Amino acid sequence: MQKNVTVIDHPLIQHKLTIMRRKETPSALFRQLLREISQLMGYELMRDLPVEQVEIETPLQKMMAPQLQGHDPCIVSILRAGNGFIDGLLDLVPTAAVGFIGLFRDPETLRPVEYYLKLPQHMDNRPVMVVDPMLATGYSAIEAVKRIKSEGAKDIRFLCLVAAPEGIEAFQKHHPDTQLFVASIDDSLNAKSYIVPGLGDAGDRIFGTK
Ligand code: URA
Repeated sequence: MQKNVTVIDHPLIQHKLTIMRRKETPSALFRQLLREISQLMGYELMRDLPVEQVEIETPLQKMMAPQLQGHDPCIVSILRAGNGFIDGLLDLVPTAAVGFIGLFRDPETLRPVEYYLKLPQHMDNRPVMVVDPMLATGYSAIEAVKRIKSEGAKDIRFLCLVAAPEGIEAFQKHHPDTQLFVASIDDSLNAKSYIVPGLGDAGDRIFGTK
C-alpha cells in the first residue's frame, strides 16, 4: 500500500498537526498552522521539480544557473478545504497558477459530481499540485485527478494532511502514477466517512463554520 506514498514526518509538521487535531484549537490558529504546514510539506513535494540551466549575468561575470523549467507550477484546490493550502504554497511559489475544482456528493449514488471547475491553461506542461487536507474515502480526490488528467496534466502530485488507509488504497487503484504526500496516515474511517482520530471537518475548522 505504501508505494507512491510519502509520509512527511518532520517533527515540526507533526507538532503543528497535533495542535490542529486538538478540538479546542480555534480557527484562526488552525488556519495559520495549515499555512505553515503547507510551506513545510510543499518544500518536500517540490523537491524534484524539473529545472533547466539558463545563462545569467551576476555583477561579476556570466554563468549558467538553474531555474524552474516550463510553465509555472499549478495548485489545484479541491473546494473548499483545499483552499487552506493555497497561501502557504503561494508563499513558496508566488508565480504558481491556482485552479479550483468543486465536487458534491450525489445523495443517491454517493459519488462525487463536479459543480465548479476553473483551471489554468497549459496543464500538460506544468507540475500540478492537487490539494485537499483530508483523504477519507478518496472519491473526491480520485475524481479531481481524473478531471485534471483529462485536461492533459501529466506531472501530478497530491498533497493532503491526514489520510485514511481506505482512501489511499482507493486512490492508488485509480491513479497508481500519482505520488501522494501526507503528514499522517490515521487509523480508519468511521460510519460517517470521517477519518479517525482525524481532526474533524477540515472545512469547518478552517473557516469557522461550526
Ligand atoms: N473530510 C473532513 O473534513 N474530515 C474528515 O475526517 C473526512 C473528510
